[in-house]
Formats: sequence, C-alpha cells, structure tokens
Amino acid sequence: MDKKRLKTYRDRLLEERASLLGVVGRNEDYGREADTEATQDPADKASNSYTKELLFSQSTNDRIILTQIEEALERMEDEEYGVCLNCGQEIQPKRLDAVPWTRYCITCQDLQERGLLDEE
Ligand SMILES: [Zn+2]
Repeated sequence: MDKKRLKTYRDRLLEERASLLGVVGRNEDYGREADTEATQDPADKASNSYTKELLFSQSTNDRIILTQIEEALERMEDEEYGVCLNCGQEIQPKRLDAVPWTRYCITCQDLQERGLLDEE
C-alpha cells in the first residue's frame, strides 16, 4: 500500500479513536450521575436502568472497536496493515474505506460472522 493511502487510513483511525474515547468517557460520567439521583419514582428508575443497559452495551461495542483500532494501528507500525489476518490476502480498498480497522477481507469476514473462522 502506498504511503499516501496508508496515511489517510491512519488519520481516520486516530480520529475514530479520539471520538470513541470521548463517547466512552461521557457514557461513564452519565452512569455515575444516574446512580446518585435519589428522588425518583419507580417508572423513572425503570427507564433509567434501561438507559444504563443501552449505554453499557453501546460502550461495550465501542470498546471492541477501540481494540480493533489499536490493533490496526499496531499493524501499521509493523507494515502489515491492509492484509487479511486469516488468509493473508490484501483487503479490498472499498472495504478498508468503509471499515479502516477491519481485520479480515470480505470472504473471511463472512466466515467469521457465520462462526466458521478459527480465531486466535
Ligand atoms: Zn481473508
């Protein structure tokens, strides 16, 4: 991959990482605030715990993406970026444009989503 394209993906990864870190931080603050809320009726409590669950699952998802972004940045350092971790083929440029932190080419991603890929 040429340096210019690599830099474009790197910038996008760093940008995405910064925004995810911002989101994760805010969600955790919000969770703490909701906990200290003392005066609320049971209906409020229920909707609060639903919101918390929602935020929790969202930040779990964010954390997974954050991990994948970190890994992608590491692969850039090792000059292995843009290569499928499973089959070793180059990942399609369109796919990298859509998900710059992807680990797999479209074929292997499909296998992974169907649970047919052996992951380390
Ligand atoms: Zn592959």
